[in-house]
Amino acid sequence: MISLRCSGCGEQPPDADVLACPLCEELLAFELRTDAISAYAVEDRTRLRRASVDARDRSGVWRYRELLPPVADDAITTLREGDVPLIEANRGASYAGVDRLAYLHLGMNPTASFKDAGMTVAISHARERGARVAICASTGNTAASAAAYAARAGMTAVVIAPVDAISAAKVAQTLDYGAHVVAVEGDFDDALRAVRPLDPATVTVVNSVNPYRIEGQKTAAFVLLEQRRWHAPDWVVLPGGNLGNASALGKGFREARGIGLTARLPRLAVVQAAGAAPFARAWREDRELVPVRAQTDATAIRIGAPASWKKARAEVRFSAGTVLDVRDDEIAEARAVIGRDGVGCEPASAASLAGLRQLVSSGTVPRDADVVCVLTGHVLKDTAYAERYHASSAPHANAIVRGTDLADYLNLLLLTRA
Ligand SMILES: *Cc1c(COP(=O)(O)O)cnc(C)c1O
Ligand SMILES: [Zn+2]
Repeated sequence: MISLRCSGCGEQPPDADVLACPLCEELLAFELRTDAISAYAVEDRTRLRRASVDARDRSGVWRYRELLPPVADDAITTLREGDVPLIEANRGASYAGVDRLAYLHLGMNPTASFKDAGMTVAISHARERGARVAICASTGNTAASAAAYAARAGMTAVVIAPVDAISAAKVAQTLDYGAHVVAVEGDFDDALRAVRPLDPATVTVVNSVNPYRIEGQKTAAFVLLEQRRWHAPDWVVLPGGNLGNASALGKGFREARGIGLTARLPRLAVVQAAGAAPFARAWREDRELVPVRAQTDATAIRIGAPASWKKARAEVRFSAGTVLDVRDDEIAEARAVIGRDGVGCEPASAASLAGLRQLVSSGTVPRDADVVCVLTGHVLKDTAYAERYHASSAPHANAIVRGTDLADYLNLLLLTRA
């Protein structure tokens, strides 16, 4: 039903735990035989499991376990991840210029980013095969997620990160969960280069080059569709860094349609930060990706050599989607607007709304389109960024009121808001 193959040449790897094809060096990917799966059976099981108290059924990932690589029940390591809300976005809609918009908030996961949906599968598989050490390069969220799931599984997590260039909250969270945090000079791309060639017999690499991560993350597509009674939106807009998540969501929608859970595919729009946009450039110029030295305040997508760009390109093409980039000040403004919807997110996530605004103004996305923006991380992931923004003179800055008489202040407030 599901088998591991090279995403480049299609060969089956000799060992299920290598990260790259020994023949052509491309990443591996699971292939699900969707024609052998009944949409009715999936829908039925999903409904039943939503009412169950079994931890696997409550997880928005393991609820779909028949569509994932098999893992023994006693190895499944879950924190009830994946079951995140789709939230209507009124201010976001008018900011972007569309009639109707919703946020799929993947920041509402146990460690507050979408990485958990992939990590639960990667760590459960590693646990099943008796691995003791999980290792990752990280801009912060992979680190926190790997640390938490390794702790639950009784494994040791080792995190390689440019600690001074990532959010302090993410580092603190990772330390709390007990991971060994190894600071490196350089950036994420340097850290990932150090991790990828490690021997899978000794340590398990849990970056998104690990195909089990992608399988977990694809369930976000199912969770989105499930909340819309399996009716796909016109567009799904998400930020892109290493491009594992774009690959995963594309795969999820493709499989959902293959099974017959939904009638059509949403078009994918992948949004990069302008200072870290090698994929957007490759897309525009229709050529191979050329790595860059990445620079952006949206540190979760500060990646110059995205490992999964070929997989992501295939998914974006298949969905008739697009790739674009937005400036850091556009990300900052969009992030503030998402906050005003009472939702909030970390900077990288807001690239989605900033990107949608650009797509509407260029006419790529019509005003009456049915759109979902994917929010990848929680607002509390980077409070230093939010504090800086609100202390600035930016358009949506919300300065702290100091040294004023409360009664006078309230009177003025009631007058102006009446
Ligand atoms: C990891 C991450 C991204 C980028 O996802 P990729 O799969 O690397 O493209 C975007 N936003 C947040 C908050 C992240 O943690
Ligand atoms: Zn190959």
